[in-house]
Amino acid sequence: MEVIDAVIIGAGFAGLRALWRLRGMGKRVVVLEAADDIGGVWYHNAYPGARCDVESYDYSYSFSPELEQEWRWSERYATQPEILRYINHVADRFDLRRDIVLKTRMESAVYDEAAARWTITSTDGRRWSAQYLVMAVGQLSTTKEPDYPGQSSFKGEIIHSGIWPKHEVTYEGRRVAIIGTGSSGMQMTPVIAEKAAHLTVFQRTPNYSVPAANAPVTDEEDRRVKADYRARREQCRNSPTGLGFKPNRQSALDVPAEERDRVYEAAWHRLGFGFALAYYDILLSKPANDTAAEFIQKKIGSVIDDPKLREKLVPSGHPFAARRPSVDSGYFQAFNRDNVELADLREFPIQEFTPKGIRTADKTHEFDIVIFATGFDAFTGSILKPRIEGRDGLTLKEKWSEGPITQLGVGVAGFPNMLIIVGPGSPSLLSNVMVSIEEQIDWLADLVAYMDANDIVEFEAEPEAERAWVEHVNERARETLYMSTNSYYNGAEIAGKPRVFMPYSGGIRGYRRILNDCAAQGYSGFVLREAPLGAAAGDQRSAASS
Ligand code: NAP
Repeated sequence: MEVIDAVIIGAGFAGLRALWRLRGMGKRVVVLEAADDIGGVWYHNAYPGARCDVESYDYSYSFSPELEQEWRWSERYATQPEILRYINHVADRFDLRRDIVLKTRMESAVYDEAAARWTITSTDGRRWSAQYLVMAVGQLSTTKEPDYPGQSSFKGEIIHSGIWPKHEVTYEGRRVAIIGTGSSGMQMTPVIAEKAAHLTVFQRTPNYSVPAANAPVTDEEDRRVKADYRARREQCRNSPTGLGFKPNRQSALDVPAEERDRVYEAAWHRLGFGFALAYYDILLSKPANDTAAEFIQKKIGSVIDDPKLREKLVPSGHPFAARRPSVDSGYFQAFNRDNVELADLREFPIQEFTPKGIRTADKTHEFDIVIFATGFDAFTGSILKPRIEGRDGLTLKEKWSEGPITQLGVGVAGFPNMLIIVGPGSPSLLSNVMVSIEEQIDWLADLVAYMDANDIVEFEAEPEAERAWVEHVNERARETLYMSTNSYYNGAEIAGKPRVFMPYSGGIRGYRRILNDCAAQGYSGFVLREAPLGAAAGDQRSAASS
C-alpha cells in the first residue's frame, strides 16, 4: 500500500488544480482517474458541436499569469477539442501527469479513525493510505441511461452524449435519433442535421435557449484581454455567478417596456448565458421572469417556419433559467430543414425499441444511430458511486439518503479529512465552475496549511453547523424561482432521488465571504483535532484484539 498525503479522485479541471496546489505545498499526492486519459467531462463529452457556454477567457485557470499569457483561445466559446487541448497543455506545462494514475477507478475509501487516514482501494485491488481524500469527481459525470423495453434488441448503435465513443461516428446517409433537448441535445442537433440523411429529435420538455453569439477571437481582442487579465478575473470573482457581467441592479419591472426590450435585445446578441442577469430579479420574481420569457419565446418563434412546430418548440410552462437554459448555435433553425423532424414525447411517448428503431404511440421510426442526450445523475451521482465509509462504518450513501448534507459544501460530519470540490452545497453549477473550483481549492489548501502549522491531524464538520448550512442553502433557494419547477438542481432528474436543492444559489462572492469568515474564526463549524478522535477507541480495540 502506498502511503501518501492526499488521494484526489478525478483528473478533470478540479482534480488537476487540486494536484497543482497540494503538490506546491510539498504534499505527496496521487490522482486516480477511471478514464483512459485526463480531462473529466471534457474528455467524455466529445459529441459533435460540444462547446463551453462560458467565454473561453473566463473558463480557464487563473493561477498562472504565464499560462494566461501564452495560451491563445481561438473562439469566444471554445469547442470541446480545444478545451481538451488546453487541459493537456496545462498537465504537460506543470508536469502533472507523473502523479496521475489513469484507468483506475476508486472502489472504496474507508476511514481509519485511530490513524486519521483514509484507505482508498481501486477496482483492480490497489490501495493507497492518505490523510486527505479529495473528491473532485464532477457534478455531471454519471450518465443517466434510459432503459426502454426492447432497447437491447436494437441493431443500430446507441450512444450517450456523456460518454461519447472514441471511434469516429459517421452520419452521412444515416438515420439518427437524438433523445433529450438539454444543452447537449441542443448543441449537437444543428451539427448532425447538416450531415445525417434524417434526424429525429425526441423532445420531452422544450428548453429555453439564447444564441451563443460565438466568434473567432481576434488578435486585437486577445491583446486587450491579456493586457488587463487580472482586472477581468477580479470582475468574475466579484460577480454573482463568476461570469464577469456587471449585474444590472434594476428590476425588470421598474423600466418601461420599450427600454426593457432594448436591454433584452442587446443581451440577446451578446450575453449568451448572461441573459439571465439582464435584470437582477429575473430569477427572483415571476412577473420579472415573465418579461424575459416572453421576449425569448418571441425570438425563438420568429426563426421557426412551421407554425405547428413553433408551438411545440417554443418553451413555456416553467420560468426562464429555473432549469438550466442552453446557449445554442442554430438549434431552432435546424427544424426548418427537410431532413429534421421533431417527435413530441409529451404527445406520443416512446413505447419500445425495436431491432430497427423506436416505436412511439403514433408511429414506428427507423434509425441507424440513437443518441441519448438524457443528462446525468447530477451533483451526487459520482460522489456516491464508490463506497465511502466514515466513522462507525457509516457510509456516505447512508448519510445522504435524504439528500446531501455538508458544512459549506466542503466537509461532512462523520467523514473527517474528506474534501469535496464544487459539490452539493456550493455554488457549483450555478456559477462559472472554473471560478468556483479555484476558490474552493485555494480555501481548502489554506485549511490544510493551517492544520500543518498547528499540528492538527483531523478536521471534521460539526453536525449542528452542517444542519444550519443545509437549511441556509434551501432558504436561499426558496428566495428564487429555482424551486418552482422540476430540474436537476432539485433532484428531479432521477426518479426516487431526494428532492432537495443541491447547489448554493447565494452567488460566488457571497459564498467566498462565508468561507473567509469561517477561516477567520478559526474554521468555525469544523472541529480541528491535534489527535484523532478515534485514537482512544482504536487503542482499546487493538488492546482487546491482542
Ligand atoms: P440535461 O440538461 O439534463 O437534459 C437532458 C434532456 O434529456 C432533457 O431534455 C430531458 O427532458 C431529456 N430526458 C431525460 N430523460 C429522458 C427520457 N427518459 N426520455 C426522454 N427524454 C429524456 O442534460 P444535458 O443536455 O446533457 O446537459 C446537462 C448539463 O451539462 C447542462 O445543463 C449544462 O450544465 C452542462 N452542459 C454544458 C454545456 C456547455 O457548457 N455548453 C454543454 C452541454 C452540457 P426533461 O427536461 O423533460 O427531463
